[in-house]
Amino acid sequence: MRAYNFSAGPATLPEPVLRQAAEEMLDWRGLGASVVEVSHRGAEFVAMAAEVEADLRTLLAVPDDYAMLFTAGGATTLQALLPLNLASPGQAACYALTGHWGKTAVKQAKPYVSVHVSADGEADGYRDIPPPSEWTLAPGAAYLHLTANETIHGVEFRDMEPVFARLSRADAAGVPLVADFSSSVASEPVDVSRYGAIYGGAQKNLGPVGISFLAIRRDLLEREGQPRADIFDLRSHAAKESMLNTPPTWNWYLLGLTVKWMLAEGGTAEFARRNARKAALLYDAIDGSGGFYRNEVAHAVRSRMNVPFFLRDEALDKAFLAESKAEGMIGLKGHRALGGMRASIYNAMPEAGVQALAGFMRDFARRHG
Ligand SMILES: *Cc1c(COP(=O)(O)O)cnc(C)c1O
Repeated sequence: MRAYNFSAGPATLPEPVLRQAAEEMLDWRGLGASVVEVSHRGAEFVAMAAEVEADLRTLLAVPDDYAMLFTAGGATTLQALLPLNLASPGQAACYALTGHWGKTAVKQAKPYVSVHVSADGEADGYRDIPPPSEWTLAPGAAYLHLTANETIHGVEFRDMEPVFARLSRADAAGVPLVADFSSSVASEPVDVSRYGAIYGGAQKNLGPVGISFLAIRRDLLEREGQPRADIFDLRSHAAKESMLNTPPTWNWYLLGLTVKWMLAEGGTAEFARRNARKAALLYDAIDGSGGFYRNEVAHAVRSRMNVPFFLRDEALDKAFLAESKAEGMIGLKGHRALGGMRASIYNAMPEAGVQALAGFMRDFARRHG
């Protein structure tokens, strides 16, 4: 029996995607071989890759003046490649830190740029987002980086207008916004044209691990950047349609199936509605528990994708995990940095799964409260 899988990443995939992949495993597109056994230069794979790009552009409404790249490796790889490609050696680059992954981005960028921390929510335990009106920018910065949704801390930008307003001030003229959308891509409509680049690993909301996506305004790709090997040069990847070397073909294929599924289900507007309902179900179960469960994130920036929560009595954590597992719910253990629990409720998590979890939580609290 399939469990409801609340894992943060790699994460649950839509069942129809897994079924189709299983069906096509021995014979893909009539080739008598699986997609992982044929050349990425073959007509079938090249056609599939073009289809995936077109589908993802449609799903995310990526404008034509943006290149769409698929790169091997994770979001962390892109956290290093972006400064290498977009900043000259030692140039300032700004980072707004709202959780763990923003800090990772800084770590990857440090060898290449002069990091300017525009804002940092750490003093507050990353329970809120410092007001964008107060963010500082370094003169001549290559870009401003932020994490759209912090997967571990459960903090999400629910309103980007204050960030756009901050970037419209004179000291930010020409500074593009670069955003890590690893854990919230395609969860709601996003105006990509307000960003210089959006990127992320696929394994949270878009498919399997091993492949990342990057939508980047083409003029930014023309920046000189820093001395780098050709394989680290995003211009080269763009010129070769993400096939500079052998791409992760299986991952690309699964990503493509997942994107097609999302389009068939109604696209980002539909997922925004579903995700709002799912998040409300879960936060209601937490907030209505009389303190048995708690989520410490400021309400206005609570993530719709990753819901960390704690039991009042952490001695019950083990029982919570064991009993939820017995009822067919897995992946609820919190990240080791925070402890407690975390429920990741990406696009592929059905509403019934969140209803089951909320019901279990109420029942567990009744029995142990
Ligand atoms: C998971 C995650 C990453 C890291 O992704 P990798 O593919 O493991 O490199 C970066 N940023 C965010 C927001 C994430 O959720």
